[in-house]
Amino acid sequence: MIQTNAARPQSEVVAKARAIAHEVAARHAADVDTKARFPSETFEALKQAKLLSAAVPKELGGDGCSMQELTAACAELAHGCAASGMVYAMHIIQVACIARHGMESPFFRAYLKEIVDKQLLLASVTSEVGVWGDTRSSICALTPDGDQFRLDKDATTVSYGAAADDLLVTCRRTPDAPASDQILVLLRAGEYTLTQTTNWDTMGMRGTCSPGFKVASRIPGDHVLPGSFADASAQTMVSYSHILWSGVWLGIASDAIARASAYVRAAARKKPGTVPPQANRLAEVFVHLQAMRNNVYGQAVEFDAIMQQPDGMERLLTIGWALKMNNLKVGNSETAPEIVHQALQIVGISGYKNDSPYSLGRNYRDSLSAALMISNDRIFNKTASMLLVYKDE
Ligand SMILES: Cc1cc2nc3c(=O)[nH]c(=O)nc-3n(C[C@H](O)[C@H](O)[C@H](O)COP(=O)(O)OP(=O)(O)OC[C@H]3O[C@@H](n4cnc5c(N)ncnc54)[C@H](O)[C@@H]3O)c2cc1C
Repeated sequence: MIQTNAARPQSEVVAKARAIAHEVAARHAADVDTKARFPSETFEALKQAKLLSAAVPKELGGDGCSMQELTAACAELAHGCAASGMVYAMHIIQVACIARHGMESPFFRAYLKEIVDKQLLLASVTSEVGVWGDTRSSICALTPDGDQFRLDKDATTVSYGAAADDLLVTCRRTPDAPASDQILVLLRAGEYTLTQTTNWDTMGMRGTCSPGFKVASRIPGDHVLPGSFADASAQTMVSYSHILWSGVWLGIASDAIARASAYVRAAARKKPGTVPPQANRLAEVFVHLQAMRNNVYGQAVEFDAIMQQPDGMERLLTIGWALKMNNLKVGNSETAPEIVHQALQIVGISGYKNDSPYSLGRNYRDSLSAALMISNDRIFNKTASMLLVYKDE
């Protein structure tokens, strides 16, 4: 990776994501939002550019991208279309879980190669009716069924479930296991059926297409990811989710500021030699955008530095790291809508209108999902418990 600026990572993958964001995702974003449809054009372009294997290790034919590159790719895509950025982030999170916890398994190594060859799209099924936002407990269980296993799950929210090739699902290890003894299981196309149970007619992030589904499957035993979900969650899923989601929210906020900047420049052109009154507010909000960008990429840089250490995976199990991830998620999920709100104050009615080039409605609505994707209250609750025993190292 050619690293020119820690706060703006550059690489071939990031450049491809930026081009797709501008040339494809942004062009279809309004239609995706209006129709609450999957951003199929963006994902066709991502597949053509082989970006669905960006997180697959190089030894298996992928790009082996760093966290900095992946974060930048998510931010670039979200700048054009937030739903595209979020779907891409969620796919990468699942691939990373397999790449970081499944390399000992011949089945999962072969599967990672297949992601490279076929550019498979992978969705996540962690939510479940009855446990709601608590991803660290499951009701459903992997159940022996002859020489195979059965896994049925009633999920509340499965983003792009209908568009995905395969699913990565959390469940209890056995029918007798406690709710927290979870594993991750891969369901391949043809091994499962989906029955939609709810609609996805939401305020924002409409293109993620995330209704509830009943999942029914029958699978061989080697589809179980080695180890526990407790470790995969702490060492991979939480870090990748909170850093890459933050990248998506940064993309939404940057796009809002780009629209506000364009509006102020247009106002300046109307009265040459004067600084429009909104320019001061723009200067003010730039401070917040820069702080957000440094916060997001700073954490990605730290993650990559940790992973250079021989005991990197263990370091991700500390309370200190868990607190940083919680703070990153809560902080950026609140900052993104605040920045969009400030952009709207700059643009005024032209930002409030849906049919104006400076419209901020989609940015606003999309950014409001951030605090709900794992409720900030739930995260504060966990942080509060950890702070009772945490001593700053
Ligand atoms: C755009 C989007 C896409 C998503 N995609 C997926 C997906 O693909 N797969 C998937 O599995 N999930 C996905 N989710 C996440 C899933 O929908 C969440 O599990 C769900 O949002 C949580 O439901 P809830 O808001 O009812 O949360 P809950 O966590 O049940 O919280 C509801 C409310 O209860 C309160 N509360 C709950 N627990 C506590 C606590 N411990 N302390 C204090 N207050 C608490 C809070 O006020 C909170 O707002 C997605 C979410 C969004 C927004």
